[in-house]
Amino acid sequence: MAEALTSIPLTSLPRISQGKVRDLFSLPNDENPTLLFVTSDRISAYDVILKNGIPTKGAILTLLSAKWFEVLSSRVPGLKHHFLHLGPPPASGLSQDEQQMLRGRSMTVRRLKIFPIEAIVRGYVTGSAWAEYQKTQTIHGLPQPAGLKRCERLPKTIYTPSTKAELGDKDVNISPDEARGIVGDKYASRLEELALNCYNAGAAYAEERGIIIADTKFEFGLDEETDEIYLVDEVLTPDSSRFWSKADYESGRDQDSFDKQILRNWLTENGLKGKPDVEMTPDVVEKTKGRYTEVFKLMTGESLEVVLERTG
Ligand code: ATP
Ligand code: MG
Repeated sequence: MAEALTSIPLTSLPRISQGKVRDLFSLPNDENPTLLFVTSDRISAYDVILKNGIPTKGAILTLLSAKWFEVLSSRVPGLKHHFLHLGPPPASGLSQDEQQMLRGRSMTVRRLKIFPIEAIVRGYVTGSAWAEYQKTQTIHGLPQPAGLKRCERLPKTIYTPSTKAELGDKDVNISPDEARGIVGDKYASRLEELALNCYNAGAAYAEERGIIIADTKFEFGLDEETDEIYLVDEVLTPDSSRFWSKADYESGRDQDSFDKQILRNWLTENGLKGKPDVEMTPDVVEKTKGRYTEVFKLMTGESLEVVLERTG
């Protein structure tokens, strides 16, 4: 099995930031500021980055997001997004080794001012929403009908934002009104509308392919020159969403999901939840890689190898 790439050895471009999973590099471009958005094979769970990574995960997340930008553009009226093209721009001065290292895992995007909230949308009640619902019959402060079961489909898709924490901190669930206080009246309603429309379009597309998108997190950015909102970041990936198999779905119990659930369960069972410097066993790596690979194939209809071959 190919080695996982947990750090991005790229020295030809200035690195402007490093998140839990991605490294961002600035690209020379005077008119429209652009970034090289690079996804490593790092994986985080419970807000902690694991010591080793998941081979090919960076390419899976990048190529799946690229697919979604294309799908959502045609299905969400008026949607603008940050994606310009896969890979770095031609003639950006990268070495052969660097280009090979980036294969499938980088995209050139518009550099925007990121709204400091996570635009979460939920179609089903699970995770922190289920915990809150059981206590107060609300989700992010929004009143819900009585009698919902674990993982049940919500009567109405809801916009349930959270704060966007700095590296090392935890995001906090907030109500749409609190999000309005953070982003301002001028943008709040449009962000909510875009997030709901992107979720609804994505969920319908996924459902045709046998996958339920239980919930997901979008991020949006602002072009301050034109005052336009753009969908940014990764989109509808197993890192940013909960994907369930439609065939196996049944409310009233937890669902198996196509994401980090195997890793989360392993961490919890071994008392490693939230601990730093944890190394996943080869078995956990292999199974997690399998889940990511499987969902990529289901969602795009093609294997990772085929898409990598076509996109270079
Ligand atoms: P998590 O995704 O778990 O919250 P993270 O926030 O550390 O982790 P990464 O995915 O590792 O994020 O890094 C991506 C970073 O790039 C995020 O901070 C995101 O807000 C930012 N970003 C995404 N798109 C753009 C863009 N077009 N312009 C500027 N920054 C962007
Ligand atoms: Mg992120």
